[in-house]
Amino acid sequence: MADIAQRNRSTKIIATLGPASSAPETIASLHTAGADLFRLNFSHGAHEDHLASLQAIREVEQSAGVPIGVMADLQGPKIRIGTIDGGGIDLADGATYRFDLTDRPGDEKRAPLPHPEVFAALEEGMDLLIDDGRLRLTVGKIGDDFADCEVVTGGHLSDRKGVNLPQALLPMGAMTAKDQADLLFALDAGVDWVALSFVQRPDDIAEARRLIAGRAAVMAKIEKPAALHQIDEIIELADAVMVARGDLGVELPVEEVPALQKDLVRRARRTGKPVVVATQMLESMVSAPVPTRAEVSDVATAVYDGADAVMLSGETASGDYPVAAVEVMDRVAAKVESDPGYRNIMDAEHADPEATSADAITAAARQVAETISASAIVTYTTSGSTALRAARERPPVPTLVLTPSLITARRLAVAWGLSCVHSADASGFTDMVDRACRAAADRGIAVTGDRLVITAGVPFGTPGATNSLRIAWVP
Ligand code: PEP
Repeated sequence: MADIAQRNRSTKIIATLGPASSAPETIASLHTAGADLFRLNFSHGAHEDHLASLQAIREVEQSAGVPIGVMADLQGPKIRIGTIDGGGIDLADGATYRFDLTDRPGDEKRAPLPHPEVFAALEEGMDLLIDDGRLRLTVGKIGDDFADCEVVTGGHLSDRKGVNLPQALLPMGAMTAKDQADLLFALDAGVDWVALSFVQRPDDIAEARRLIAGRAAVMAKIEKPAALHQIDEIIELADAVMVARGDLGVELPVEEVPALQKDLVRRARRTGKPVVVATQMLESMVSAPVPTRAEVSDVATAVYDGADAVMLSGETASGDYPVAAVEVMDRVAAKVESDPGYRNIMDAEHADPEATSADAITAAARQVAETISASAIVTYTTSGSTALRAARERPPVPTLVLTPSLITARRLAVAWGLSCVHSADASGFTDMVDRACRAAADRGIAVTGDRLVITAGVPFGTPGATNSLRIAWVP
């Protein structure tokens, strides 16, 4: 009898935790509703809040018997103006306004921008966007410690608002001192993924990898136009990518985001790296119990594109209906995946195997599963790399991953179609088949008489050696 709920979709759901959702019982409800991985957003919240959330997630994991992924999303070098006298001022279209390095509060003529590296990177004619692009200025005269700008689209400029400089390649890495402190904390706490914000170049990933030293997997958030110039190298160096449409849609004209989303999903899928589509997917559910039809279409588009995961931010972190938002995403993803058109798309966009044993075996497993109408593919993996190759195949049946590494099982929570079971390595072929059949039955994926396609590396327990494919009957 099945005692562990199997999701009825392959696309994963990431829920961001925050004040609306960090109570242990809410975390449990979000998981039951469909959240496969939780995001701790280090742009907000104190370390002790994140630690309490992580502990609550691990308790849910224990009682649900399903590995759950946890992602620490680092704030990155978010640029902000300083304070303004009285909290804010109105900027009129056509006015000239100065940003400088002095730390006096701002007024009608100037405001502090306490980032020397920005002044080093500014050039005349560049756009300077404030408050998610609500205010737009053009850079004019520049000095070492000031920039005079023309206000193109004015509005209310208030304390500490975020600044975007789409055309500038900023001479700074993707990690500030705060990020490094947050990173150490998150690694010690035991997160599975670290998401890097405002990645500009492959070196940003390499630098993060050096600091992380294998203690967590690395997700590159794509939100700067500069990152697009070397996107294949960035994808190559990262373990996964996120289409961070919030900042991407500020740094680039919004109409460019849909094509970019499709392109990034396609590139990541081709390499077998998980790809997450994020931000404003069900934004209206921050304050309403039902989404707009357009939002449902947006989630559906990401699912039809074959994204590994879709993500909720404010909807679950600070919204009024966090659990309902996950339920909507779950239902939309499941419905899209049941559309025969979805399967046609997955089959048509199927990437060719690379010339490795792991790809040859996983591609064959998919074909065999289709030919004999197997109930599932079962993959033994230690590092998780074979499981990701299996996910890259986007097979039409569930993929059950058996791994002796809990760390691997948790990291794979983000990947398309993988259901992970933390299980000791098989000791031989009979044990391999027994474990696979038991796990498939426990998850409700297979019943007596069904067939499974099992892949493993022989000798058992040797990482990176997938070389065997076996068909088994469930007893
Ligand atoms: C985004 O900009 O879309 C994003 C996911 O990043 P953040 O929520 O950290 O701004």
